[in-house]
This record gives sequence, structure tokens and C-alpha cells, in this order.
Amino acid sequence: MILVSACLAGEDCRYDGKSCLSPAVRELVRRGRAVAVCPEVLGGLPVPRERCEMARDLEGNTRVVSERHNDFTAQYTLGARASLFIARANHISTAVLKSLSPSCGFGEVYDGSFTGARTGGQGVTARLLVENGIRVYTEDQMPPIEEL
Ligand code: SF4
Repeated sequence: MILVSACLAGEDCRYDGKSCLSPAVRELVRRGRAVAVCPEVLGGLPVPRERCEMARDLEGNTRVVSERHNDFTAQYTLGARASLFIARANHISTAVLKSLSPSCGFGEVYDGSFTGARTGGQGVTARLLVENGIRVYTEDQMPPIEEL
């Protein structure tokens, strides 16, 4: 089984109440090969919700903060742990996650300026999955589904 971002599978779970459908990811779910999760919803956040990006606090710690300067790091962390729990329960070793998200982004995320600027890094869930031995692809990097 493969863990996938629910918004890539077509669920309207993004902060703005929309999806980011990837036909390949939806096909993985349709074939019964993938489990779809939305870490931010698993962390207790509603749909729609405040738009967040990753930022650093004065001590240099990574936080997840909204445009209105509310700190949602605790909910993002809870969602990451819940996603890891689901991955382990399904013996998952590969994930396909939504690029640039502060939860699911892998390799690059938005930089906290809410200008569309990017910086190197991982979303909270992507980082936790990688730290626990799960191979992560974004929807742009994933190989053909027959090779997953
Ligand atoms: Fe998609 Fe991940 Fe954001 Fe949920 S947390 S909407 S699955 S990118």
C-alpha cells in the first residue's frame, strides 16, 4: 500500500476547500493500492481553514503559522503523527504527497512570506515520514504507478 495526500486523490480538503486532483493518485486509490490521508484534518483543523506556511521563530525553531499570525504547529504535528500511525498500520513504505504544502511538501515548501516564494525543506508530515524510513515523492516526482 501507498500513502497519498487526500487532496491529490480528489478530496476537497485543502485550506480553501478545494482539491489538487492528480489523476495518477486517484487511480492508485481506485485500484485499492493507496490510503488517502489529510494530515491537517487529522490534526483537528477544519475545512476551510487559515492558510499556513512554515516559518522560523526568534529561537530558530520551525513553526507553522497562518497569514493572521496564528501558530498551528501543534495541530500540524498531531496530524503528522496520526499519518505516521496510519502508514505503520498499513505497512506502508512509500508515500506520494502534495508538493509545497507545510504538511505534505517534500524538498521545497513556501517560505513563510505568503508571497509564493519557496525555500528548501519538508512539510511536517513529510519530514516525520522520511525520518521513519518511508520514501516520499511529490506528485511531480512520482514514477509511473506500475513502478510504485
Ligand atoms: Fe492536501 Fe496535505 Fe494539505 Fe491535506 S495537508 S490538503 S492532504 S496538502
